[in-house]
Amino acid sequence: MVKIDRLVPKEKKGLVVVITGCGKGKTTSALGIAVRACGHNMRVCIIQFMKGDLYAGEWDGVKKMNCQVELISTGKGFCGIQGNPYSHEEHRRNAQEAIQLAHQKIESGQFDIIILDEINNSLKLKLVDLEQVLEIIQQKPTFMHLVLTGRDAHPQVIELADTVSEINEVKHAYRKGIEPQPGIDY
Ligand code: ATP
Ligand code: MG
Repeated sequence: MVKIDRLVPKEKKGLVVVITGCGKGKTTSALGIAVRACGHNMRVCIIQFMKGDLYAGEWDGVKKMNCQVELISTGKGFCGIQGNPYSHEEHRRNAQEAIQLAHQKIESGQFDIIILDEINNSLKLKLVDLEQVLEIIQQKPTFMHLVLTGRDAHPQVIELADTVSEINEVKHAYRKGIEPQPGIDY
């Protein structure tokens, strides 16, 4: 097979990417970006909001990739879903810590891509404030890419983004009563 060298972009630009919608594939899409970036020896930091209670394969997966990907899972699971025992105040405290962490990681200058997983729904649930999310987007370093995932992305976040995908649910195995499956769902 003939390998054609890609032209590097004439102008380097740090993008704001939003992956939202009710279908499955938002977090895994962001993880796909991390895998791709890994191939370019780029440094990636993934901060997961509202996660940390239930194991997900990506926690060890990124370590096994032996790449410059740091994943920090913050929080106590999805706020407000059945069976989650923590109060809104506790979830908000965790999300506020995650926002501070995001600032630290961004300001460290050590990352080419920052992924804020589930930040959109954290905003919708009022665990973080709109101003806090807009500030992160507006003050991000020019060349750093920022990826924001989660359902119900705020219109002003969508407005500021360069690339926005809305993943719609056509079907989900969950609706047939199929339990979450490792590798696919977590
Ligand atoms: P994934 O992490 O698989 O990319 P996601 O980030 O798009 O999914 P979330 O809203 O973060 O979806 O939900 C996380 C978990 O819930 C995943 O295990 C996912 O398979 C599952 N899930 C996603 N969409 C639905 C749905 N419509 N109904 C039930 N469960 C869903
Ligand atoms: Mg997700």
